[in-house]
Amino acid sequence: MRVGLYGGTFDPIHNGHLHVIRELISRNIVDRLLVVPAGEPRLRESAPVASGADRRQMCVEAVNSLEADIKNKVEVNPIEVLRQGPSYAIDTVEAIAATYEAATIALILGTDAYEKIDQWHRAAELKSMVEFIVIDRPDFPGAPNLEIGALAVSATDIRSKKSDQIPAPVAAYIKEHNLYASK
Ligand code: ATP
Repeated sequence: MRVGLYGGTFDPIHNGHLHVIRELISRNIVDRLLVVPAGEPRLRESAPVASGADRRQMCVEAVNSLEADIKNKVEVNPIEVLRQGPSYAIDTVEAIAATYEAATIALILGTDAYEKIDQWHRAAELKSMVEFIVIDRPDFPGAPNLEIGALAVSATDIRSKKSDQIPAPVAAYIKEHNLYASK
């Protein structure tokens, strides 16, 4: 059993993320996938714009919009948004490893995120505990080990209204809660 851990700010979750999720499940690269919105991520110049509760809820709505055979294998895990202070991947991996005892844990990252892995908290230990699935990302350099024809969209583009590549329920949530209004 291979459990994928897909962490990110998800500020907001967008079609690029959903494409990653669909490919990982439909190609049987992981048996289960945990989408883990970050609490207060490190290595970012500024804190997330939307609250943890809003980012978590947008992930839930986005996952619910997926086809049944995909979403059955995906869950949004709130461990990091419920934690106080910065969230470290290693802490999340340790918690997941305790729940899925016999499973292999695979961390899913875009090339941009993987480039910074050596700066992560307890990086050596983290590397010894997980496999990495590094996904191609258009417009970002790096060496992916999984090519999925990733979409050229970022949350930054969504917040600044340069792109509208988000699922309809997420668009409705943003509108209803007036998120990213002046971004
Ligand atoms: P921002 O623009 O705010 O930095 P982002 O779009 O990069 O956000 P994150 O929440 O930081 O989104 O991304 C979570 C994970 O998904 C990271 O590992 C990132 O590399 C990856 N990712 C983000 N967008 C894509 C995409 N379009 N295709 C493939 N992977 C992606």
